Amino acid sequence: MNLFDFSEIPVEGERWVRFAKEFLQHFGFHIETLPYRDTENVFDFCAVEQVSGKFNYHPFRWLVSCRHKAITRTAVKEGDETNILERLLHSKADGFIGFYSTTVSPPLESHLTELKNKLLIKDYRILDAKFLETYLETPGFARIAFRYFPNYAQTHQALHLIEDDYLPILCEHCRKDLLKLLFTEDHEGVVVRLRRQKEVHEETTVITNIYVACKGDCDAELQTKYCNGTNQHAVSWTHLSDLASSSTFLDWTLSLLQKIGTDEFTYTTSALEKELYLLKALSQYTLREPTGKKLTSPQKTTFS
Ligand SMILES: [Zn+2]
Repeated sequence: MNLFDFSEIPVEGERWVRFAKEFLQHFGFHIETLPYRDTENVFDFCAVEQVSGKFNYHPFRWLVSCRHKAITRTAVKEGDETNILERLLHSKADGFIGFYSTTVSPPLESHLTELKNKLLIKDYRILDAKFLETYLETPGFARIAFRYFPNYAQTHQALHLIEDDYLPILCEHCRKDLLKLLFTEDHEGVVVRLRRQKEVHEETTVITNIYVACKGDCDAELQTKYCNGTNQHAVSWTHLSDLASSSTFLDWTLSLLQKIGTDEFTYTTSALEKELYLLKALSQYTLREPTGKKLTSPQKTTFS
């Protein structure tokens, strides 16, 4: 059984194309949208790489053709890829990439080989399901894998435990676990910090509360709850997903340490406790390393 089920990506719409662009961008290509709109091949785009030699350094443009047939489990046939030469000509491309969720049919592969042998195209590559799966399994591609394959994300939540029990990050209004949603596309949590209105001669900014909420209605409800008729107001909104990369997580931790060491900025005890909980809970995500294997129990990391 394959690790990734490409039929998780809907056939309708442009999601397969978005996946292709993100995958190739992560692979090191510069992505260009075509200046024209080919009505039959609306999902074509160009991926550009720099080819360097001793005397030459030039861009090599690949025309990327996205074909998503995972639902029917059929190979991409010649009839699915019409007018290849014309499409390359229009896009001023040097080579052809077939970005397929299944395989390429032997006649289509023969046709592409023939075009190459006759020097009508410089090169071609087929990135089929097997090729894509090989890369999606590697840690560097994990974020893309989690975003586009929700079922895979559900079974590969390699969270490191910081304490004996899992620490959720719940929306304070609807109690949805926003930490687990980071593994899917619905990462919609915001971290909101509330400040007490300064007194006239007060110089210190006091963070009085922090809450995590779903973006939108839940956030609005909590703002009303905490700010209406009080001397508190919200001073910062940070997307939970923005804190989820290792570098931003470290920045956040360092800036917190720097701020609480100054006279201008302080936390109430309860707000600082919430901030520290958030830091610990989120580190279950940012300190993890996806292994490509389903974990029977989360790994434990010492946090001190
Ligand atoms: Zn909510």
